[in-house]
Amino acid sequence: MKLVSLMCLLGLLLFGCASSPADTNRHSGEVSETRDEHSYANINEIRTEHLHLDLEIDFDEKRVSGVARHQMSKSDADTAVFDVKGLQIDKITIGKSNEKETDFVIGEADEILGSPLFVKITPGTEFINIYYQTTKETEAIDWLPAELTASKIHPYMYTQGQAILTRSWIPIQDTPMNRITYSADVKVPSDLLAIMSANNPKEKSSTGEYHFEMKQRIPAYLIAIAVGDIVYNSLGDNCGVYSEPAYADDCAFEFTDMPKMIEAAENLYGEYRWEQFDIVILPYSFPFGGMENPRLTFANPTLIAGDQSLVTVIAHELAHSWSGNLVTNSTWDDFWLNEGFTVYFENRIMEELYGKETADILAVIERQELDTALEEMENDGHSEDTHLKLHLHDRSPDDGMTDIAYNKGAYFLRTLEHVAGREKFDTFLRNYFDSHAFETISTEEFVNYLDSELLEPNSIDFNVEEWIYQPGLPNNCVNITSSRLNRMIKMAEDVNNGKDIFMGSDGDLKRSDFITQEWQAFIRGLSTDISIETMIKIDEKLHFSDQANRQLKVEWYQLAVRVGNKSVRPEMKEHLVLVGRRWYIERIYQALKDSDDPDDLVWAKQVYDEAKNNYHFVSKSTIEEILYN
Ligand SMILES: [Zn+2]
Repeated sequence: MKLVSLMCLLGLLLFGCASSPADTNRHSGEVSETRDEHSYANINEIRTEHLHLDLEIDFDEKRVSGVARHQMSKSDADTAVFDVKGLQIDKITIGKSNEKETDFVIGEADEILGSPLFVKITPGTEFINIYYQTTKETEAIDWLPAELTASKIHPYMYTQGQAILTRSWIPIQDTPMNRITYSADVKVPSDLLAIMSANNPKEKSSTGEYHFEMKQRIPAYLIAIAVGDIVYNSLGDNCGVYSEPAYADDCAFEFTDMPKMIEAAENLYGEYRWEQFDIVILPYSFPFGGMENPRLTFANPTLIAGDQSLVTVIAHELAHSWSGNLVTNSTWDDFWLNEGFTVYFENRIMEELYGKETADILAVIERQELDTALEEMENDGHSEDTHLKLHLHDRSPDDGMTDIAYNKGAYFLRTLEHVAGREKFDTFLRNYFDSHAFETISTEEFVNYLDSELLEPNSIDFNVEEWIYQPGLPNNCVNITSSRLNRMIKMAEDVNNGKDIFMGSDGDLKRSDFITQEWQAFIRGLSTDISIETMIKIDEKLHFSDQANRQLKVEWYQLAVRVGNKSVRPEMKEHLVLVGRRWYIERIYQALKDSDDPDDLVWAKQVYDEAKNNYHFVSKSTIEEILYN
């Protein structure tokens, strides 16, 4: 999709427009100085208010085609600029009932951002209709052949928009600074169900035609669709699970607590504002544990552990209904406002449902991950990436999706809670969500709000500047401990010191004695100096390498690589070929890459070649970065 810069120049001459990624994007009338480095859209001049999609999904050609009908704000602008990447634009018209073709130019393509799409309009133009189709370069869509689904009968497709992939399946002003409503008419093969981040059908239509409405204003990255052999299971008045038929019963058991989670969240921080909270369990290739698409969280089947032990992800995605979806980061440099708040909120939901001890265990594990990330970034000479507020100019927003945004962000809020007291902090957070509902917010705007609503009125002196704009973890970071985890770390030390933990008083030690996160702490506490025989013996008793819980498999396989235990390779390969969830594979590939044994990297590349067709673009990019750079 490269068009020569001559065309771009021509466009600029024709339309007199000079939009650039660093344009002063802001809502008209707002005083924000925030700029979105990751969008070309000129939303300060003209912006989409409502988008209607008329689309056909063609599985044979692996193509989405149709029209994106943008209803624009009233404006004097003579050019509207959209973001596009890997799209074929067939024609563009303006007008509603009486459409007239208009000129457009696609600017030079940037590897990360894609291209600006300049559309010539007349002042007062309200409707811009972009006729387009996706191409093989489209990064948002995962097209799965039937073999890669649970049924192995029907193909499947889904999209992932965050951070800036929506522009690769819809021509759109792809910045979180603009919120829009949308509707869609979608045609799919009649034996498949289509669902979106909108109001959804509960069963298949006989024609394969579906209509969707999202009446609350959302940023572009939250527009999403999934199409496949999908059934619905209600779990309560306003929640349920979509999945392939094969997973339906397992899902109903695994996610039983969803109604309780919604109730707990509402009790904490106010009304759930999206009416329905459903999740869809996608095929294993989905690159994340969950993605908080409003009304319809997208989730990976790895959440189905069989013992409800991985439902923290559901609490996390539910929390996003407030932090992220209701109040949205202005730019990807402010990503911690989405994720730090969500990890904090998720933990509070877990505390309500399962008690403080469980919540503390989760927080301690997060702290371990944060400390590791901080150390790695410092060692790599990237201490600027440990700031909460990032500067991702010329970089992919994905570079900011690290433990810093999530876990340093959450520890910042936990420390604030500790200093201010829970009651005052909860009132502050509830008001924050209410007063910024359906808005975007920058870090600077948040800092002002924090000062005026929590710190100044309560005369609290807090090192906000250090937390947000400086590297590392400030000394006043609240310290959370867990005696249950300490016990597991002690047990790991016993193993490291050569003790047989299956003898004596612990002789009947079983997997079911402890929760996933306790075992996680145990495995992380094991030394890479333990013998291969010790690993094999532990595995025979506790089955880390071969049971359904993939969170523990991931820990176990990393340790196996570091210890040099190749006996787990068959199970490890099965995992890497089946699962495309980035977090569940990147650490294993990284361990193989870092190994002293050169054979490990050779093996990793062989496995990757076999597995990559089952990975979404997001995971592929990360793994190729690890293996080939
Ligand atoms: Zn999240």
